[in-house]
Amino acid sequence: MPPIENDTGKNELKTRIQDLIDSNQVLVFSKSYCPYCVKVKDLFKELKVECNVVELDLMEEGTNYQEMLLEMTGQKTVPNVFINKTHLGGCDNTLKAHKDGSLQQLLSGENEAYDYDLIVIGGGSGGLACSKESANLGKKVMVLDYVVPTPKGTSWGLGGTCVNVGCIPKKLMHQTALLSTAMQDARKFGWEFDETVKHNWNTMKEAVNNYIGSLNWGYRVALRDKNVNYVNAYAEFIEPHKIKATNKRGKETFYTAAKFILATGERPRYLGIPGDREYCITSDDLFSLSYCPGKTLVIGASYVALECGGFLAGLGLDVTVMVRSILLRGFDQDMANRAGEHMEEHGVKFLRKYVPVKVEELEAGTPGKLKVTAKSTETDEIIEGEYNTVLIAVGRDACTDKIGLDKAGVKVNPKNGKIPVNDEEQTNVPHIYAIGDILQDKWELTPVAIQAGKLLARRLYAGSKAKCDYVNVPTTVFTPLEYGACGLSEERATELYGQENIEVFHSLFWPLEFTLPNRDNNKCYAKIICNKLDNDRVIGFHYLGPNAGEVTQGFGAAMKCGATKEQLDGTIGIHPTCAEIFTTMEVTKSSGGDITQAGCCG
Ligand code: FAD
Ligand code: NAP
Repeated sequence: MPPIENDTGKNELKTRIQDLIDSNQVLVFSKSYCPYCVKVKDLFKELKVECNVVELDLMEEGTNYQEMLLEMTGQKTVPNVFINKTHLGGCDNTLKAHKDGSLQQLLSGENEAYDYDLIVIGGGSGGLACSKESANLGKKVMVLDYVVPTPKGTSWGLGGTCVNVGCIPKKLMHQTALLSTAMQDARKFGWEFDETVKHNWNTMKEAVNNYIGSLNWGYRVALRDKNVNYVNAYAEFIEPHKIKATNKRGKETFYTAAKFILATGERPRYLGIPGDREYCITSDDLFSLSYCPGKTLVIGASYVALECGGFLAGLGLDVTVMVRSILLRGFDQDMANRAGEHMEEHGVKFLRKYVPVKVEELEAGTPGKLKVTAKSTETDEIIEGEYNTVLIAVGRDACTDKIGLDKAGVKVNPKNGKIPVNDEEQTNVPHIYAIGDILQDKWELTPVAIQAGKLLARRLYAGSKAKCDYVNVPTTVFTPLEYGACGLSEERATELYGQENIEVFHSLFWPLEFTLPNRDNNKCYAKIICNKLDNDRVIGFHYLGPNAGEVTQGFGAAMKCGATKEQLDGTIGIHPTCAEIFTTMEVTKSSGGDITQAGCCG
């Protein structure tokens, strides 16, 4: 067997050896003719301890094994003995350990092989859930969380994206914007107020950030109460079972564990054009921005872009969204376009089919003034615009490139940095697992990361067999008119089952609370997609209207139970609500029938 030259081959071999070490109580790398090896094997026979022997001279890859053992243990000679994952050494060390009693201690597992049963890297939605659950189950757990500041210097506390720069501040700012509409509606309901209504960015920002501060504190207390050791330091592997933790002051500490969970999440991607890092912000900066952003250009057209653009417009700001191709890629396009149309009707400008090429500073300040140059994706046209703030929301990159995964042998998708796992969230290295946003081809949502983390802990430490179900995950995009979905888009359902095998029921509706203010008539829309081949089972649920998250959650449960159209028809609605529309839908899309609604009761 030739020596292994490439890193991949070496990593694979290292992983194989590590697996052997991890899965055998006593492991001896030996050579069949070596008298010292025979001595050690005889000793274990005498002690009546099962001893797993790898005879290097009898295997094709023996020399490569020996080279790798040298790299891993500093010892090239045989026998090379491991007990309960601890490297004991050669013949002399083994006999000495037998004499002084430490061998028996090692065999009984009294000597802790590692500092921790479990080390979790990343204290966000998934990492916190998993570490708390593991500690609940009696394990010795450490969680490390460290936030690398943004190019603008923004940083935050424990809890990860959702709490600090994601779901929580986003929903609170979305609510701020909804209150503006509520105030306009209020006059139509008889409320009289004379004062000019204006919004104070700093008051909102302070309130939101104080609340986040209380959550950060709550997480620390919860970890302490559950005896999880929280360390505010950046973790990276230096060996398959060992990490280096570097704190804010640069102090390095080393920890070992039997198992690891990677839950490092993602961070916003930059465009790689002149001026992006210097002058633009991302969602990581927006929620704690110390000044009102003013006239804003949002670049991107997915969840983050449309939600942030939506609430900024709702606060009364001049907002433009620059769209490279389509809105909300991956979502039902009919729904995505309706959500976008509603934003457009309420003042958000869309620059479609453009991408930015450079950002220049015209005036410094808070906010200052920036000039953005963009080019058409279809023609040679170049456009320019001036904005106070440019918010980049073009996707997020998995935080997997600087955590020493090569040292641990963990495979990463080189195209996007995502980690492939099996259906038990296990990476290619058996003692290393991964959850949350860094997973390949999985949802990037807080409840998904939490569920995966909790169930993983229960499987690892409580004998549970329950796996995270990534199918039919309900989600909501908090655009000004919210969009809730569960299951397949119409496009995907058609692709999977064929147009002739699906039936789409749909309806426009007018929420009762919109009627007195006389706004957004026939803008809200409901749609379900049913599989004709399977008893008209609902395989896609789509709702555009108020409180989409609240509405979609319940139907998500129904879909998990396998709800059919007949069962929805048999369900009695709650009147007057928006959700009741799903119990009375009669018009199929294929019929082309009228779906406009005259009033709240159809
Ligand atoms: P994270 O929560 O990102 O946590 C990872 C943690 O690990 C971070 O604290 C990070 O700093 C830390 N870390 C990284 N590397 C290291 C290291 N080497 N050492 C130590 N620590 C490290 N989801 C929803 O369900 N609903 C929403 O409404 C919603 N809104 C969102 C809005 C925005 C603007 C964004 C950006 C996301 C939103 N999400 C939403 C997605 C949600 O926030 C994520 O899916 C979720 O936070 C993922 O959890 P996680 O545990 O994988 O990672
Ligand atoms: P995303 O879903 O990956 O979308 C990226 C967007 O940026 C797309 O519109 C993409 O356009 C555009 N884009 C990419 N590169 C570009 C470029 N060079 N120039 C211009 N536009 C570019 O990213 P995201 O919105 O940041 O969301 C990340 C994840 O966070 C989501 O998958 C979601 O799970 C989670 N999240 C959830 C919620 C929620 O639950 N409400 C809210 C926010 C985020 P193309 O379509 O042309 O590629």
